[in-house]
Amino acid sequence: MSESAAAKRLDRARSGLAELGLEGLLISHVPNVRYLTGFSGSSGWLLLGADLGVFVTDGRYEEQAREELAADAGLELRVLRDGVLSGLAEWTAREFGGARVGFEAKHISYEDWSRLDEKAEAVRWEAVSGLVENLRADKDDDEIASISKAADIASKALLETLPLVKPGMREAEVASELDYRMVQLGAEGPAFETIVASGSRTALPHAATSRRRIQTGELLLCDFGARWRGYCSDLTRTFAVGEPTQRQIEVHAAVREAQREALSALRAGSSGAEVDAATRAAFERRELDAHFPHSTGHGLGLEVHEAPRLGRRSEEVLRARMVVTIEPGLYFPGWGGIRIEDDVVVTGDQPGLLANLERDRLEALPG
Ligand code: ZN
Ligand code: ZN
Repeated sequence: MSESAAAKRLDRARSGLAELGLEGLLISHVPNVRYLTGFSGSSGWLLLGADLGVFVTDGRYEEQAREELAADAGLELRVLRDGVLSGLAEWTAREFGGARVGFEAKHISYEDWSRLDEKAEAVRWEAVSGLVENLRADKDDDEIASISKAADIASKALLETLPLVKPGMREAEVASELDYRMVQLGAEGPAFETIVASGSRTALPHAATSRRRIQTGELLLCDFGARWRGYCSDLTRTFAVGEPTQRQIEVHAAVREAQREALSALRAGSSGAEVDAATRAAFERRELDAHFPHSTGHGLGLEVHEAPRLGRRSEEVLRARMVVTIEPGLYFPGWGGIRIEDDVVVTGDQPGLLANLERDRLEALPG
C-alpha cells in the first residue's frame, strides 16, 4: 500500500464516522484494519477519531507493526503486553468518556464486546455495520492490479494443471497441483480452500474437495483462486472428462449465456439485484431457474467474499472500480453441475475481465 493511499483511506473512514455522528470507531475486523493501516498480521485493533488514529496490538506483533504501519498516515502504535482488550477498554474510556463510539457489530465476539462494555462503561457504544467494508468496495489502481495479478496466477496454474489430469486421479490430487502451481507462480497461497469436484459431486454448489477418483464421462469442476499481496482471485471452470455429452454441452452453453447477460447488465449505476435478475432471466427463459440456487456474484478484494453482493436482495448501487465475480451455475442432483466464474472490474460501460481462460465452450480433458 502506498503511503498516501493509507492517509486517503483514513480520511474517508473519518468522513464516514462524522456522517454517522460518531466521535470514534473501534475497528476489530482484521481485513478492515489491514485496509486502513497496512498491517498484515492476524491480531490488531484500530481506534479512530477525528484527530486520532491508534493501532493497538500485543507484543508478538510489535516489530511487524513498526515495519508495516503506513508512515505518513499519522498512526500511533500502542503495544499492550498485559491483555490487549483490558488496556484498550481503559484507554478508550479515557479518550472517549461520554462520547459516541462505534464498534464493528459483525466482527467482535460477544465475550470481547461484554468486556469492553464493562471496562469502558463511560463510552456510549454504538453498533456499526459495513462502514469500512463499503469503503473497501471501491478499489484503487494498486488494488485492481493486485487482484488482476492474483487472477493471472490462478489462470496460469490451471493451464499448467489441466494436462496432468486423467481418469483415476483423485479430486484432492488435482487440488494440490493447483495449489502448488499457484505458489510456484508467486502467490502467497490459495485465496481459499481449493474446490475440485467430480461426477455427481459437481451438483453440490459448495462441494468440498474429496478423495474421490475422477472417471471418464464425468464433469470436473475447479473453483480456486490465488492470493497476491493480500488480494484474492476466485475463478471457476467446469470440464468434461472425455468426449462431452450433448446434455453437458447444452448446460454449459446455458450457463455461459447467463454469464454473458449478467456481464452486460453489470455497469456503474445498476444495482446488484439487477445484475442477479439478468442471470435469473436467462435461466427462466430455458425453464432452468430452479437449478440456480445461489446468487450471481460477490465483491472480491482482501477477502474472497466482500461487498458488494450480487443477489436477489442486493439493493446496493454498483460503482466504477468495484471488483466482483460473475458466477452463474446450474446443478442437477445425481447428474452434476456446471459453473463458470470470472472476476471483473465494474466500469461505466463494458466490465473488464481479469483473467483470460476459455469460457465459451465446454473443454474436454483426455478421458
Ligand atoms: Zn469461487
Ligand atoms: Zn465466488
